[in-house]
Amino acid sequence: MRDLRLPDAIIVGGGVLGCACALRLAESGLTVTLVERDAIASHASGNAYGGLYPTFGPGIPGPSLPVAIRSVELHRELDPRLQDETGIDIGLREAPSIELALTPEDMIGLFDASVWWPSQGFDFKMLDRQHLLEIEPAITPEAVGGVLHNSHYEVDSYRFTLALATAFERRGGRIRSGAVAGLEREGDRVGGVVLESGEVLQAGVVVIASGPWAGQGEIDGLPDLPIRPVKGEIIRLRYPGTDLSHRVVVGRSYVARKPGGLVWIGTTDEEAGFDEKPTSAARDEIFAGALAIAPGLESAEIVEHTACLRPTSADGLPVVGPVADGAIVANGAGSKGILLSHAIAEFVREIVTGEEASVAMPAEYDVGRFL
Ligand SMILES: Cc1cc2nc3c(=O)[nH]c(=O)nc-3n(C[C@H](O)[C@H](O)[C@H](O)COP(=O)(O)OP(=O)(O)OC[C@H]3O[C@@H](n4cnc5c(N)ncnc54)[C@H](O)[C@@H]3O)c2cc1C
Repeated sequence: MRDLRLPDAIIVGGGVLGCACALRLAESGLTVTLVERDAIASHASGNAYGGLYPTFGPGIPGPSLPVAIRSVELHRELDPRLQDETGIDIGLREAPSIELALTPEDMIGLFDASVWWPSQGFDFKMLDRQHLLEIEPAITPEAVGGVLHNSHYEVDSYRFTLALATAFERRGGRIRSGAVAGLEREGDRVGGVVLESGEVLQAGVVVIASGPWAGQGEIDGLPDLPIRPVKGEIIRLRYPGTDLSHRVVVGRSYVARKPGGLVWIGTTDEEAGFDEKPTSAARDEIFAGALAIAPGLESAEIVEHTACLRPTSADGLPVVGPVADGAIVANGAGSKGILLSHAIAEFVREIVTGEEASVAMPAEYDVGRFL
């Protein structure tokens, strides 16, 4: 008989993936403890932009496309319920966004990229310069045209992760502060975790959702996984007005007014190890990109500048599945972790309980490819 004092599952990491997995397993009736060494959503999951965009990203079009489409549906189904249950305003909203063309070549690129969108039912509209400036007058008059995406959504990533954690606790889940230093072996299988303090927590299954730190050999007994941190920075600006209500993107640069009024500009892709400090070089790069989109932002005032780390796998795709008997990883969501969190949590639940996920996990996500 199961020892009722022990949790069925331990989740390592209180980012969006750890919290989503914890909630799903608790909903399936498991007793679950989540172990986080800093605070819930204190890294990428609390600082991400929060875009739910199924039209682009690693593996799109490709293996991530059906998962991304289902993920948007899952957010639309589940987030309002999470919000009602927890009282936390997740900020799920339709967020039409514009991909901008600054040159005729950019415009050709947008037409090329759009070829497969109708087959997936994505709602979009090509815009000429005049139409573009009618929609967003703050955009540079140099713009040639663009595309308006109506299939994009957003959440507040910090509140979303917090709502997952809160709903988890309401189902009896336990959140513990502590740093996991190793996996506890029981013969051939993993039977729990060892904390830095030396304390051992036993469990039937361990789910390792420790973000970019999973690839660092920090957790003794976890196989080396090719997961690295890719740093991204975002700046929040005070810029009075109501314009820039659409997120406007050119390549890696974007400008968007968020609910609450601040304008967010981003972002960078930096290989900087585990450094989570914002830099002046990134600030200059982000500003150059933002001013090329909306020159009026020159007068804006910086309110906040954050940096955080995307857990990114060697091939850019998520990494999910058993690494040993009794141990599962949920990681490598890169720039899409907020979007994919509900679906990845379903994949983990399917592995643990056999309850079928509402979209099949692509074979390309299987951690086995790196073992
Ligand atoms: C600038 C930026 C913008 C982004 N924008 C978007 C977006 O618009 N849409 C989108 O879908 N995604 C976006 N992302 C990506 C998204 O933020 C990540 O994919 C996601 O947050 C990763 O979640 P995670 O739970 O895997 O990792 P993390 O959020 O890094 O969480 C891992 C947690 O594990 C804990 N931990 C690590 N090791 C241990 C240990 N040994 N013991 C205990 N705890 C441990 C850490 O403290 C941390 O809290 C963005 C990322 C960045 C950087």
